[in-house]
Amino acid sequence: MMKRSASGKDVYYFGGGKADGNSSMKNLLGGKGANLAEMAGHSALKLPVPPGFTITTEVCTYYYRHGGKYALGLKQQVDAAMKKVEKAMGKKFGDPKDPLLVSVRSGARQSMPGMMETVLNVGLTMKTMEGLIKQSGSERFAYDAYRRLITMYSDVVMEKAADIETEEGKGIRQQLEKLLAQKKKEKGAKLDTDLDAKDLKDLCERYKKKVKQVLGKSFPDDATEQLWGGIGAVFSSWNGKRAVSYRRIENIPGEWGTAVNVQTMVFGNMGDQSATGVGFTRNPGNGAGGFYGEYLINAQGEDVVAGTRTPAPINKNSQSSHNKHEVMLSNFQPKVYKQLATIQKRLEKHYRDMQDLEFTIENGRLFILQTRNGKRNGPAAVKMAVDMVKEKLITKKEAVMRVKPEQLDELLHPIIDPAAEKSNRPLAKGLPAGPGAAKGVIVFDSNRSVEWAKNGKTVILVREETNPEDVEGMRAAQAILTARGGMTSHAALVARGWGKCCIVGCSDMEINYAKKTVEIGEVVLKEGDWVTLNGTKGLVYKGSMPMIDATKENKELYSYLKICDSVRKMKIRTNADTPEDARKAREFGAEGIGLFRTEHMFYGKKSEKPLFKLRKMILSDSAEEREVALKELFPYVKSDIKGTLEAMEGLPVTIRLLDPPLHEFVPHQEEQLKELAKSLNIDMSDLEKRIAALKESNPMMGHRGVRLGVTYPEVTEMQVRAILEATAELLKEKKKVSPEIMIPVVGIDREIMDQNGIIDRVKKEVMKKHNLKKLPVMVGTMIEIPRAALTADKIAHVAEFFSFGTNDLTQMSFGFSRDDMGSFLVPYLEKGILPVDPFQSLDIEGVGQLVEMAIRRGRKARPGLKVGICGEHGGDPASISFCYKMGMDYVSCSPFRVPIARLAAAQAVLEG
Ligand code: PEP
Ligand code: MG
Repeated sequence: MMKRSASGKDVYYFGGGKADGNSSMKNLLGGKGANLAEMAGHSALKLPVPPGFTITTEVCTYYYRHGGKYALGLKQQVDAAMKKVEKAMGKKFGDPKDPLLVSVRSGARQSMPGMMETVLNVGLTMKTMEGLIKQSGSERFAYDAYRRLITMYSDVVMEKAADIETEEGKGIRQQLEKLLAQKKKEKGAKLDTDLDAKDLKDLCERYKKKVKQVLGKSFPDDATEQLWGGIGAVFSSWNGKRAVSYRRIENIPGEWGTAVNVQTMVFGNMGDQSATGVGFTRNPGNGAGGFYGEYLINAQGEDVVAGTRTPAPINKNSQSSHNKHEVMLSNFQPKVYKQLATIQKRLEKHYRDMQDLEFTIENGRLFILQTRNGKRNGPAAVKMAVDMVKEKLITKKEAVMRVKPEQLDELLHPIIDPAAEKSNRPLAKGLPAGPGAAKGVIVFDSNRSVEWAKNGKTVILVREETNPEDVEGMRAAQAILTARGGMTSHAALVARGWGKCCIVGCSDMEINYAKKTVEIGEVVLKEGDWVTLNGTKGLVYKGSMPMIDATKENKELYSYLKICDSVRKMKIRTNADTPEDARKAREFGAEGIGLFRTEHMFYGKKSEKPLFKLRKMILSDSAEEREVALKELFPYVKSDIKGTLEAMEGLPVTIRLLDPPLHEFVPHQEEQLKELAKSLNIDMSDLEKRIAALKESNPMMGHRGVRLGVTYPEVTEMQVRAILEATAELLKEKKKVSPEIMIPVVGIDREIMDQNGIIDRVKKEVMKKHNLKKLPVMVGTMIEIPRAALTADKIAHVAEFFSFGTNDLTQMSFGFSRDDMGSFLVPYLEKGILPVDPFQSLDIEGVGQLVEMAIRRGRKARPGLKVGICGEHGGDPASISFCYKMGMDYVSCSPFRVPIARLAAAQAVLEG
């Protein structure tokens, strides 16, 4: 045999404050080996990790190149390293009096969870068993450890590594498990823990016999033979079936090889001076500073996780109502606690993030088994990021990357208590249209919703779908749940605008309005029954579940968003339709309005009068009739716009001209129809004819948007006048206002030219009336029809800005109706035909091309063209990142998404 390499170093020791390797040596030592070396040896850490050594990945590649042989000298190096381990532990491997036991594990450069083999408790033989029994004072403990070793070793080393193929279900592990089950049956035991030492001792004997009988070889009763068996098995598991196919999927080259980590076994269940626990350098539940954690005396890690015993708090900081009677580690073993408390400080400083560490105390001696960046919830993530910047532990840029945009939802809306949600099964799933959680009793019509809410009930409005007539009921409800509709359906848009919990397209629901029931599978719910909704995930639960509300104290959130703003380049605007929404959005940090949907003033609170006038206008039969109605409507429109411009003083406000198909506003109730007929001075049959004439087969592709303005120039004129008069009045009051008039549903440049004619004329008139020399107003368009994107250069000649209406652009690019997609979206997602709902996250591959092309062509024709997005995608982090790459000036989203957009836009800058 030849020596393998010039240096010839194959084995790297770690432990006792020393290590041969460090974290930069992942290729040679594998991820786990390099981390262990870092923890043990780095001058800032020197953690008491259980000592051990790593056999390098090069030994693995050598092993494969030389037909399963090791390089010369490996054995001596392993022996020497083992001596160091023995010295650090004060125990000897194979010693009958006080045996050192080790684990043998794989560890590749990149983690391959569960793909390779592990053997624990290596070193247990008939002789060393006696020592373990004496040291632990527990025969049961020792035989349980032995039983586990026999199971793992025979499976991993004697069967798998020896390439013994067994029939499905006939492997040695299954056969031994059968023996265990049999033993439990004999003893009438339910759990493994119900077996006593004698049972386990007997079981070990039966195991060994079975191993011999099935595999034709005895289980080795020699510590060193076990060790080398384990090492060989880990190397050969590198080329095991599971590992090979995992590598293929993850593109991990076979030449990398795996390292082998041999490490001292330490036991938290060695007796009543032993313990095991987990610690966090800050509280992962709320981000509060101070060491936090729990532990169990005389237990293994899995006991802490299993939840069968209540873990005790490590210190005062970790006490809660349900653990305050347990003894704290700081009292139980004050010295160990002190050592642990110093270590956690060092760890956080070194890794510059909250650490989640696992520790074990074996007979009063502390060991750190693992440390990693700890998981945390939204409020905790925000608080920690802000605090760590203050403490100068991290930079602002790092802080920006420490919170996931979706996590902010937890600070903006109540959520279902995660523990309760885990233990409940949802009744049904729909589309997550409005975030946060809500609970209440169900009602099936909007009037009832308003009525019950007035009487102090919390209600959830359940509808097939909603329309503008439901707005009052929607507002009164805690949440809205619909059976139909997609992410940009009426219910979804309205609810999201208000930051209200909403689930749409929940197609498992069968609503019976007459009986006031909803059937979901086997379950029938009646009016007044409780449900709980998770609007962030689209889940519907039966009954009333506990909630967590972190929305009250938002000081931390605002500090965090300021940090984000120091990095962010793109502006964040909001889609707001009323002065109140505008104010709310401004509080959240909106830097303007990107979409004011004029028609929304006809929905909801105090909309009755203007809605009536609008209906009159819609059902007018001649220009004269319409002019009369428009005159009556004018003051309402002007005052609403003025209020919004005022609320946004100093910031730009994009006001969109009337967009939706007019038929949407036609009333359904007899009384309202009669009143309309009276006001128009016509009889009911005439009115019905006019209503029938407005009906369209495809309203979304019908008489809407700019088409209304082209056919009814007087409608455009009234709106433009309202905008400009409001502006003129505010300017005279010395208020800084910047309106932007936006023309929707444009596909042809001449449509804009047509509307510009009206706008120019009205502008001159208003300037004259108010004696103004200047009336600053921009006129631009939405890009929401593919043809507009394709002819963006021509459009840019006549439009001063572009705002991508990606709701319609998505609808028209895919040919998916945004209102009906709920009925087929789920199978599309389940079959993987679509990766995500394209109305939620922009389809970059397809629709994204139109966006890219339109910006490029638009800016070529009009350099510096202002570009933004106002479709729902403007609040989606992945889409925001795309918008930034495309060079947009701003994104606009619903008020409650503004904070999320501020963070996502900052992250987009750092992602490069
Ligand atoms: C759009 O189409 O993306 C848009 C913002 O307009 P609306 O949703 O009102 O059609
Ligand atoms: Mg649109």
